[in-house]
Amino acid sequence: MNKADSERMAGILERIGYYIAPSELEADLVLYNTCTIRDNAEQKVYSYLGRQARRKKSCPHLKIIVAGCVAQQEGESLLRRVPEIDLIMGPQHANRLETLLMQVENGQQVVATDEQYILEDLTTARRDSPICAWVNVIYGCNERCSYCVVPSVRGKEQSRSPEAIRLEIEDLASLGYKEITLLGQNIDAYGRDLPGITKEGRRQNTLTDLLHYIHDIDGIERIRFATSHPRYFTKRLIKACSELSKVCEHFHIPFQSGDNEILRAMGRGYTIEKYKRIIEDIRDLMPNASISADVIVAFPGENEMQFNKTLSLIEEIGFDQVNTAAYSPRPNTPASNWPDQLPEAIKVERLKQLNALVEVTAREKNIRYKDLIEEVLAEGINPKNEQQLMGRTRTNRLTFFPKEGPKGYRYKTGDLVPLTIKEIRSFSLSGVPLR
Ligand code: SAH
Ligand code: SF4
Repeated sequence: MNKADSERMAGILERIGYYIAPSELEADLVLYNTCTIRDNAEQKVYSYLGRQARRKKSCPHLKIIVAGCVAQQEGESLLRRVPEIDLIMGPQHANRLETLLMQVENGQQVVATDEQYILEDLTTARRDSPICAWVNVIYGCNERCSYCVVPSVRGKEQSRSPEAIRLEIEDLASLGYKEITLLGQNIDAYGRDLPGITKEGRRQNTLTDLLHYIHDIDGIERIRFATSHPRYFTKRLIKACSELSKVCEHFHIPFQSGDNEILRAMGRGYTIEKYKRIIEDIRDLMPNASISADVIVAFPGENEMQFNKTLSLIEEIGFDQVNTAAYSPRPNTPASNWPDQLPEAIKVERLKQLNALVEVTAREKNIRYKDLIEEVLAEGINPKNEQQLMGRTRTNRLTFFPKEGPKGYRYKTGDLVPLTIKEIRSFSLSGVPLR
């Protein structure tokens, strides 16, 4: 989400005449698009800002912008800490960068953190990849997980209209993009804030309807979506994914904890039994689908037994990948005020144990690819080996392969390449092209 916002803001800057500077310390304008999901993400920006603030003394025309979730969370108090900042803008203001910069150019110091109706995106993002693109589908989050800062910094859910989404994807297809990832904090909650039926009588109110609606766009070969919340994940969605050929067999569904009491304290609104049923339903229709998740360890009050249930669930389900984090208390969230916070040493120890298990499980899951034929979309050159391309399988496994096929055919970025998988590692594969 943060990357997608950065690409949109970079697109705006490019359109009004900025170009990428050779380095951060030579730029006339620096924009930090910040993240505050955990404390260590937040702290990074302060050290960057210190350096730029010092530079401004000898370089008074320098413009310093702080965008994103730290900007939203801290607002004006950032100015007290770093008075050299010219513009503070929350994530809902990303599309307004040009207007806000005009105010800065008129000599104002601007703080834009009020709740916004997110304007339909008229700018062209400056996308990092020429092949794979993010497409925002729903902004914000209406949940209230007790540990999470997202609802207070990204605001209420706002779904884009299916027509606007389709137009953006058609544009991407005409530019040569092959893969799109639909984005939302809880993507499967898409459309709850939209009218259920269009003027033409078409249903538009769910992610499932949206997938059907965009599926026939010529040129787009692969459709992904993230992140799914177990509460909104329906059988109808699973069925659509199994029937729509462009929708890739990968699901990112965070479960956060393997213990029902902790889930209740987190305010997640589902049980482990429900989570397991979802995975069973997926595997019934798509036995080889890959499943990934997010997990938090050392949530306030989590005991050894509850932590072990998280480990058991990872073994039982056999995840392809798990993003892990130790609980980090966030400003203005209920859990940060609870008395039973766990010491740092337990956080470190549990995270270490969890990561070790995730690595083993991922490697075990990867064994199923050995000698299989997988289709990989070439996304670019392997930065560690120029003779290789890299891309992902439909199931989202990073895969490396030689640029040149056995019969001398030279593959390039954007090609869909059938490979025989030869090498298996925990988090990546290597293969050779069939042709
Ligand atoms: N909306 C998605 C996740 C968005 S936040 C969902 O609910 O699943 C991305 C991930 O950051 C979360 O899944 C969670 O695992 C992690 N996270 C959020 N707040 C956190 C906190 N306070 N401490 C540690 N991890 C956190
Ligand atoms: Fe945060 Fe929960 Fe919303 Fe996910 S669903 S963004 S974890 S509040």
